[in-house]
Amino acid sequence: MNLTILGCSGSVPGPATPASGYLLEAEGYHLVLDLGHGAFGELQRYVEPADVDAIVISHLHADHMIDLTAYIVALRYGGAGFRQRSRRIPLVGPAGTRDRLEAAYDPLARKLGLHELFGFSTPSDGMQLGPFTLSFTPTQHPVPTTAVRIAHGDTALVYSADTGPSPALVELARGADAFLCEASFAPEDEYVPNLHLTGIQAGEHAAQAEVGKLIITHVPPWASAEVQASEAAKAYSGPIEIARPGAVFPI
Ligand SMILES: [Zn+2]
Ligand SMILES: [Zn+2]
Repeated sequence: MNLTILGCSGSVPGPATPASGYLLEAEGYHLVLDLGHGAFGELQRYVEPADVDAIVISHLHADHMIDLTAYIVALRYGGAGFRQRSRRIPLVGPAGTRDRLEAAYDPLARKLGLHELFGFSTPSDGMQLGPFTLSFTPTQHPVPTTAVRIAHGDTALVYSADTGPSPALVELARGADAFLCEASFAPEDEYVPNLHLTGIQAGEHAAQAEVGKLIITHVPPWASAEVQASEAAKAYSGPIEIARPGAVFPI
């Protein structure tokens, strides 16, 4: 499978990258993982929005889902390649995703609903989306959030979503070929429990899980991805990459 970074800025979009958004492709199947501020624009570089096969949203913070509001406009009113084809796109997210999305899109137009566009469901272990098998674990974050392990054949990618330190995340990530892990807190930041990871903590999770590769993501524009990666290297001796929009990681 190929992982393409659509956006990787933490918490808010930055000058060089949209907020969180990722595209996974295998066997011609396109899975979108999170779609924060600006990520829907980047998505269009790689696949026609109407051709996306499934969407997985880790949690309902705006920097991970707000561009679904743009997706609605495109599917309803867009031209070729944007307007919905006959099927609904499966959309996996926390309980309340539909309500959150309707409120963000247009509270006054709720009666229209979104059922004609998306097939809503909540995460469940062993879920099959095309060639991918998914498993999940809740993370340490102020709202319901799930990290996800996405397996294709013998290979696996694990995405931390947003989280504070989490032994369950280490278990989910165990032995994964690639670990896409947030590193939001810079060394000089005030540390807040159960919210995000520091660079060192991202490295510790990667080391404990013995992953094949760590990809640092969700670094906010007020922090440095290079610093976060060098912090991670204090705890993890394997290969470390930095997520950047347009980067493609074969897994
Ligand atoms: Zn976030
Ligand atoms: Zn969050």
